[in-house]
Amino acid sequence: MTAYQTRLLSASPPDIAAAAEYLRRGELVGIPTETVYGLAADATNEQAVARIFAAKGRPQDNPLIVHVAQLCDVEPLVTAFPPEAQKLAQAFWPGPLTIILPRSPRIPASVSAGLDTVAVRMPSHPVAQAIIRAAGLPLAAPSANLSGSPSPTTAAHVMADMAGRIPAVVDGGPCGVGVESTVVSVSPGCARVLRPGGVTPAMLQKVLPHVEVDPAVTHPLADGQRAASPGMKYKHYSPRARVILVKASPQGFAQFVNRQAAAKPEGLMALCFDGEETSLAVPFLTYGRRDDANEQAQQLFNALRQLDERGAALVYAACPSDQGVGLAVYNRILRAAGFEVITLDR
Ligand code: AMP
Ligand code: MG
Repeated sequence: MTAYQTRLLSASPPDIAAAAEYLRRGELVGIPTETVYGLAADATNEQAVARIFAAKGRPQDNPLIVHVAQLCDVEPLVTAFPPEAQKLAQAFWPGPLTIILPRSPRIPASVSAGLDTVAVRMPSHPVAQAIIRAAGLPLAAPSANLSGSPSPTTAAHVMADMAGRIPAVVDGGPCGVGVESTVVSVSPGCARVLRPGGVTPAMLQKVLPHVEVDPAVTHPLADGQRAASPGMKYKHYSPRARVILVKASPQGFAQFVNRQAAAKPEGLMALCFDGEETSLAVPFLTYGRRDDANEQAQQLFNALRQLDERGAALVYAACPSDQGVGLAVYNRILRAAGFEVITLDR
């Protein structure tokens, strides 16, 4: 892999032009979106796409999402755009919704990890929009982290993982949503959530009467079971520390963590909700208020990265609600914990 002096670009017009030029040349650029930062490349250039997998250390069987700036850009990428998908696009694009569609030959098979479908999204972030338009290309862009580690929600996170591996990162400020897009597949009259995100099942249901949530969102796949959304089969979003998710009341959580602390385990930390740290006798980080899933989504990945910076080895994490945007937060933290969950009496 080439070693780069990674440039941190701003969202100014000349810097966006520079980012677009890298992309047209088949190079990678870290870009802000409203969900998380993406590691973008020309989705129609097989060599550029191969660079994404190399820079992230991403397994070849984990497909990428293709980002467009406007509806008419979708047509060349797909062989069909069913009415259900059109309704969802109408309702939620630009925004944090990815739709799985049948892939056209214009998109190399490697983008989709060999699947005959392609995941398409239209981001709403003005800087992402400007970069896609300036490049004049559909952009394949997974989250801009090293494979397995927490997704980046600031340009500094991207720099921490990608400095030296890519020519440039565009700084568009912290991401508004903070977790990756909702991924859905469609069938007649129906949407199926393969990965939860900022667009919730209840929001989808207002557009399509029948919405299902794939069991892999909240449960580990059985051995040999095929993932509808291949990313779901990996341990993901994880800090180096072992994370254990604790389902408990605020009091129950504090009592449990303080009891564990008595044995003085090395590197013990708690990850809890704002305001619930007061009765904890161990070092802690917080990730938003217990009743505010949007805040938790915005803060979770930064908190997971900070746990590593603080040298945590064992983290007890307070479990979020799985309602609304909370389902996305729960899905990510469950994977960060590798499905290790302790349920206490409430
Ligand atoms: P990332 O961009 O890192 O958030 O990962 C994109 C995720 O979208 C993958 O891990 C898959 O789970 C999902 N995805 C992308 N393309 C497809 C596809 N063609 N079919 C199903 N899921 C997909
Ligand atoms: Mg990712």
